[in-house]
Amino acid sequence: MLEQDSKLIIADALGSARNRIESHNRIAVSISGGSDSDTVLDIIKKCKTEKDIFFINFNTGLEYQATKDHLKYLENKYKIKIETIRPEKPVPLCVKQYGEPFLNKRASEMIMRLQRHNFTWEDKSFEELYKQYPNCKSALRWWCNCYDSYSLNISNNKFLKEFLIEYPPEFQISNLCCHYAKKVVAAEFNKSHNIDLVVNGIRKAEGGIRSVSYKSCFTPAKDKKKCDVYRPIFWFTDDIKRQYELENNIVHSKCYTEYGLKRTGCTGCPYGKNFEFELMVLQKYEPKLYKAAANVFKNSYEYTRQYRKYVKLKNNNGNVQLSLF
Ligand code: SF4
Repeated sequence: MLEQDSKLIIADALGSARNRIESHNRIAVSISGGSDSDTVLDIIKKCKTEKDIFFINFNTGLEYQATKDHLKYLENKYKIKIETIRPEKPVPLCVKQYGEPFLNKRASEMIMRLQRHNFTWEDKSFEELYKQYPNCKSALRWWCNCYDSYSLNISNNKFLKEFLIEYPPEFQISNLCCHYAKKVVAAEFNKSHNIDLVVNGIRKAEGGIRSVSYKSCFTPAKDKKKCDVYRPIFWFTDDIKRQYELENNIVHSKCYTEYGLKRTGCTGCPYGKNFEFELMVLQKYEPKLYKAAANVFKNSYEYTRQYRKYVKLKNNNGNVQLSLF
């Protein structure tokens, strides 16, 4: 992309941020302490508005000390107060009550639904299985690859179906920690503070189900009870983001600059493709958190390792004989 194009996209983002802020009254800006939220915060502060803006951070109960330190740095740099919102159920408690996240949101949710119906992980047609499990339609459609969109089917994760059939999970899997530690608290905050615009740092270029679910940087509220959602850096590629950071002297948390992480968020989340690296980093820099994550997500880490081994062997046409746990 030409530098000129990047400049236009950045100028566009700044202009549209100003317009979005000025056309709303009570705005909640989500500050995770990650690199995307650093850029969003800088853009919002450049809007120099008189509107009520709440800067909020959702502490899920598994946060890096480096993230907490960075939030303090941001408060000092921009002279703002970042309100920490604690969940009713932090991640370790959610995991204990509902199960561990495994692989990604979609797979965790569908496996959770199947487990609730005591599914026996069989390779049968949708019609046959639907007769056996009549209250589990959407998860069975995932299992049988019935969705039109490839990303909604189990085949989106190579050999996952074969793996689950050969090695069914012997622990509870669930996507509910995100729901209880993030979604519910965010909805409660928006309601109690009469928020009409939520601002977050989702970018199209980050990929994954989070970004592909959106078509543009703005989503109007579906009804009066919901808020509009605005994503100022939705169109920023990695290069544009880097350019913005350089031009605006953006400093990221130690998670990036010292630990070498590519993402932040809940410590050691098993959804992370590089969770093994993250665990090494944790052991070195934040050993207490390492112990916590290793304990909370123990089964999921082990199961993911076995799944990855399985995929590798299958890819090499090898005989797969794993000893699980
Ligand atoms: S990011 Fe991972 S650990 Fe954190 S709430 Fe979501 S699934 Fe759970």
